[in-house]
Amino acid sequence: NKTSSSNFIKTIVTEDLKNGKVNEIVTRFPPEPNGYLHIGHAKSICLNFELADEFNGKTNLRFDDTNPLKEETEYVESIQEDVRWLGFEWDNLRFASDYFEEMYARAVLLIKKGKAYVCDLNAEQIRETRGTLTQPGQESPYRGRSIEENLALFEQMRLGKFIDGAKVLRAKIDMSSPNINMRDPVLYRIAHAHHHRTGDVWCIYPMYDFAHPLGDAIEGVTHSICTLEFEDHRPLYDWVVQECEMEATPQQYEFARLNVTNTVMSKRKLKQLVDEQVVDGWDDPRMPTISGLRRKGFTPEAIRAFCREIGVARAVSTVDERMLEHFIREDLKLKALRTMAVIRPLKVVITNYPEGQTEWLEAENNAENEEMGTRQIPFSREIYIEQDDFMENPPSKYFRLFPGNEVRLKHAYFIVCQEVIKDAEGNVVELRCTYDPETKSGSGFTGRKVKGTIHWVDASQALPAEFRLYEPLITDEAEEDGKAFLDYINPRSLEVLNGYVEPNMKEAQGQDKFQFFRHGYFNVDPKLTTTKKLVFNRIVSLKSSFDP
Ligand code: ATP
Ligand code: MG
Ligand code: MG
Repeated sequence: NKTSSSNFIKTIVTEDLKNGKVNEIVTRFPPEPNGYLHIGHAKSICLNFELADEFNGKTNLRFDDTNPLKEETEYVESIQEDVRWLGFEWDNLRFASDYFEEMYARAVLLIKKGKAYVCDLNAEQIRETRGTLTQPGQESPYRGRSIEENLALFEQMRLGKFIDGAKVLRAKIDMSSPNINMRDPVLYRIAHAHHHRTGDVWCIYPMYDFAHPLGDAIEGVTHSICTLEFEDHRPLYDWVVQECEMEATPQQYEFARLNVTNTVMSKRKLKQLVDEQVVDGWDDPRMPTISGLRRKGFTPEAIRAFCREIGVARAVSTVDERMLEHFIREDLKLKALRTMAVIRPLKVVITNYPEGQTEWLEAENNAENEEMGTRQIPFSREIYIEQDDFMENPPSKYFRLFPGNEVRLKHAYFIVCQEVIKDAEGNVVELRCTYDPETKSGSGFTGRKVKGTIHWVDASQALPAEFRLYEPLITDEAEEDGKAFLDYINPRSLEVLNGYVEPNMKEAQGQDKFQFFRHGYFNVDPKLTTTKKLVFNRIVSLKSSFDP
């Protein structure tokens, strides 16, 4: 078991339990169901669930569904699937919309205490009168409305008497507070919109800054963990809990959000990629979504190990994408069957091998894990090798196949290239080689050595397969240039190749993972694979120049 990187929130929790500030910790993961979860959310999920697990506490999954215009049941479902897939089970499934009635009652309480008022300024006017860091805001002309008038107007808002934007409910705090969030923030807005759970029951909806602390308090959340952007909202969070006279007093803590190099991490932008059909859905393997990573072939174990390694801090930083790749290699290294696949095939005829004969050769399933045993692979007169493993006019230090050179076929024999067959345009389409029966792998042959070992598959029995190789969809350059990020789509983000795999792959199922000798780790695509053709997504190549 690896020791986890530093986590300052764990230190706080340990302290709070020790000195009796709390008896049991309760955390929550609070996604807004307006898109699919991404790797950044995984950090928050791991943090909240693992913290509660470690200290025998509880974690709720709470959908922050206070903006009906952007929220959908599809997202609610995908989020639950993704959290479970990552390996976590919530103690309670909750929705902010479960609390709309209670939130309304708390807003009425604020009005009665003279702490909230109905304001007729529109969104732009509110923004303009909010002031700046150096200038205090201006009080709304509606700030002095009587409690009776506010109660009546707020009720009429609820009853649908006003159009969207005509009125809002604002907290009455301090228009000259140095913290702009405290300058009479909006608590409720009017939106005549169908809500995915409450339907048309409500036409006013609470704002995040009002709904979130109330949700936390209602659920008895003790440690409400969010990203750093909310640091300046903390005084408002505490104000809402206190002025609404909530029994529980949850505390908000902020940590730095996860950024990963060459990775777009905003639901809004990811949704744009889906809507503009740049990708083939939220689960496109190029997407940094949990569902995209899953389809590409990442495992929950690798993602959790990654999240543990990056730790939890307040300092903003960007994690190298290769770190995530490191953890999937680590996870699959001893688990994945190592087999041969030819992704850019070139036919080789072994002229001195008897026609019509097939022999079965023994191949180990994982050179680093003997327990995975061995398998039998067919070998006959015609095989496929990789186009890259042959050069007609090689540079010095090229040890693979070229005219007159001898190489080892992995798990099989030495072959020598005798003849190169070309088509009318001069492309190499076939090689004629001879093999030496003495050199059979495992026979103990020591007569001579060769410098190159290449992989291959038997042509008559190999199964056709599609290989999908990926590069980042968008690189960090887009961000740096400040241009619309859609103008920076990498035209090589997906390369589709057609080749062959060993015949024993016939039984492979969607999501099965393999290491293809020299090519890397691959996952059977669960959507594109058919009974006729296996489709593999490359998860990651074998080499890493990175060690965290
Ligand atoms: P996005 O900006 O991508 O839409 P969000 O913060 O609006 O993300 P929410 O659904 O509100 O998305 O997020 C749910 C939880 O996940 C929040 O607690 C949020 O702080 C956390 N979270 C979102 N993105 C990241 C990230 N990159 N790193 C860590 N935590 C994140
Ligand atoms: Mg959010
Ligand atoms: Mg967002």
